[in-house]
Amino acid sequence: MIRSLAVLTSGGDAPGMNAAVRAVVRRALDCGVPVHGVFNGYEGLVAGGDSIRLLGWQDVGGILPRGGTFLGTARSERFRLPEGRRAAVANLVERGIGALVVIGGDGSLMGAHVLASEWPEHLASLGLEEAPEALQVIGLPGSIDNDLFGTDMSIGADTALNHIVQAIDDLSSTAASHQRTFVLETMGRHCGYLALMGSLAGGASWVLVPEEELELRWHQKMVRSLRKSREIGRPHQMVVVAEGARHPDGLPIRAEEIRRILCEQLAIDVRITVLGHVQRGGSPTAFDRILATRLGVAAVDLLVKEPPGKLRHMLGLQKNRVTATPLAEVVEQSRRVAQEIENGSYGKAQELRGESFTRGLELVKTLSRIEPAEKSQGEGGVGILTGGADAPGMNTAVSVAARCLLNQGIAVYGVLESFPGLIHGRLRELGWNELTGWLNRPSSELGTLRHDVREEDLAKIAENISRHGLKGLIVIGGLGSYLNVARMVENRRRFPELDIPIVVLPATIDNNLPCTEFTIGADTALNNVIQVLDKIRHTAGATRRAFVVEVMGRRSGFLALLGALASGAEKAYLPELGIRLRDLSRDVDMLQESFRSGKRMVIFLRNEEASRHYTTDFIRRLLEEESRDEFEVRTAILGHLQRGGAPSAFDRILASRMGAFAAFSLADAMEQKYTGVRVLGLQGRGIGAFDLHEALAEMDEGLTRPKNPWFLELLPVAEALAKHGPGATV
Ligand code: ADP
Repeated sequence: MIRSLAVLTSGGDAPGMNAAVRAVVRRALDCGVPVHGVFNGYEGLVAGGDSIRLLGWQDVGGILPRGGTFLGTARSERFRLPEGRRAAVANLVERGIGALVVIGGDGSLMGAHVLASEWPEHLASLGLEEAPEALQVIGLPGSIDNDLFGTDMSIGADTALNHIVQAIDDLSSTAASHQRTFVLETMGRHCGYLALMGSLAGGASWVLVPEEELELRWHQKMVRSLRKSREIGRPHQMVVVAEGARHPDGLPIRAEEIRRILCEQLAIDVRITVLGHVQRGGSPTAFDRILATRLGVAAVDLLVKEPPGKLRHMLGLQKNRVTATPLAEVVEQSRRVAQEIENGSYGKAQELRGESFTRGLELVKTLSRIEPAEKSQGEGGVGILTGGADAPGMNTAVSVAARCLLNQGIAVYGVLESFPGLIHGRLRELGWNELTGWLNRPSSELGTLRHDVREEDLAKIAENISRHGLKGLIVIGGLGSYLNVARMVENRRRFPELDIPIVVLPATIDNNLPCTEFTIGADTALNNVIQVLDKIRHTAGATRRAFVVEVMGRRSGFLALLGALASGAEKAYLPELGIRLRDLSRDVDMLQESFRSGKRMVIFLRNEEASRHYTTDFIRRLLEEESRDEFEVRTAILGHLQRGGAPSAFDRILASRMGAFAAFSLADAMEQKYTGVRVLGLQGRGIGAFDLHEALAEMDEGLTRPKNPWFLELLPVAEALAKHGPGATV
């Protein structure tokens, strides 16, 4: 086992780096391995002295919500030279450090690779034959650009994307008020990920990314499209350009150029917003905190497990699993995209980015079409309804699904107020223009309502399907909606009108549905939860306080567990595990110990259905009784604020991808006269379609949650990090 390790952050800073450092430090201490923090990246490693310091459990307390990196980061010219790296080796050996965790972009990972490769020769020239033969190196992807091979997402990208989406929302409202057009420049020198996904989630009219080969007269096409868009009364236009976008001849496209073209050709008021460093800043999102924490813990676990000298890898998250890729491969493949763009091989560059990038680009183009296709399918169309409790992102799914259908000449009817709307015939035809404004709206514009379809409803539903000529149905909702659809399908023999293709999209903040790792709405709810928890943590003042916070989720512990992981809460009570008396007794001991060791605030998260009798109020009273006036106890029931607000970038992208998938597969089914019922799910990176009954068979007996929810594997991670270490603060 390694005797000691060091951790550093390098290159451009990224939100979530702190979470990664915290995870590395605490997991290492938990495993009995001392950890050194290297301040200011490789510069600190070269400088040595006070720049390399042992870190304790407490040193990484309170840093989860903070942007940037508390270790500091730098670009080091000295480290680029062999002499600088030799000094770094000497500094590591002097402290008995045999392993290094580097969090940064491709440059930083390259640096780590070079250092590990040169280790033996530096040892020889320093006369340090006693030192470990090899340096173990683990890289973690820290880059807001999301431009690294070997991971689906890099630490910081989700936060940056949310900043962009927020900026597009804000600019859209002012643009609409002034009939103004905006050009928004995002970061991404060689990578269009932020611009592309920002455009998809924000509803841009035109997007320019480095990976796409533009036509010679691309600007004429853009001008035509924006002119048409104004003519038909779209309230605003937005062009999103990645800083690395290029003309067909390879020269950079500047935002100012686009502004000038639009001003001259359209005689309109065009403003530029360059987002710049705002994208890097601010508190990390739940996704980034969890990603960073998972990777940080996995890095230490690997270092502890592997025999010395074996590791020179980057850990990433691929298909929602932690994977290790050799650093050399990560650096080479990541740089290949930039190289291909430089050589003008755009097709290859896009191929390297993966299928979802190309699909995303196609989808943005489909959605920025000015006019839907002429209706070609005769009378009737597709119905869309949002069922059960509302979830952020439902509107995005409706907007995208409906526009993809309209684009194929298929009319779309919005069913108002869920299944009761279908029963009572409250349907209205949806138009393209109104749908473009729905992308970012909270809740559901169509309305939601909980209702279990009953025997007497079936004939009325059949009648309305027939009256409106519905040839297909898209249902967006939670488990109640799944069951309602199942009921309709079971009765198809008696009511042949129900024999139409149906696609069901998982949408609930509870994340408790089968065949999908994430449901639409869960990410927004999780972010809502951690934002409140961050605030609660700052309310202790001079007193010691324990908070029992109740979160939603019904019989699924997703929000409670991931909320605890992302906020650093000390405990999560989950319905999957229930609450036992002996746990409570242990938790009371833990609480007292925490306060004794200097903590000022302890947060227990309790899922609303974690236990029938050990309620939130029961736990409050229990803790109060046991506090012996040493600390105060408060409760907070987060309630509906969890489902409020505009959907997060992740939810909008998930809803857009699922909406498009639903529309295309439904159109296909209608053409093939196939009347199956499919349930959509996100597994790994891909959206898949599953049989409804097979999906329901994946639920546990009481139909309360999937049998083996993937997120329970994060339980040990949450527990290890929340432990109160010696004299801990979170
Ligand atoms: P990022 O990690 O965000 O891509 P940089 O490319 O600036 O940022 O790299 C960060 C640091 O990593 C550099 O300042 C340098 O110290 C080190 N580094 C980058 N490339 C190399 C290399 N080829 N050899 C040694 N060190 C390197």
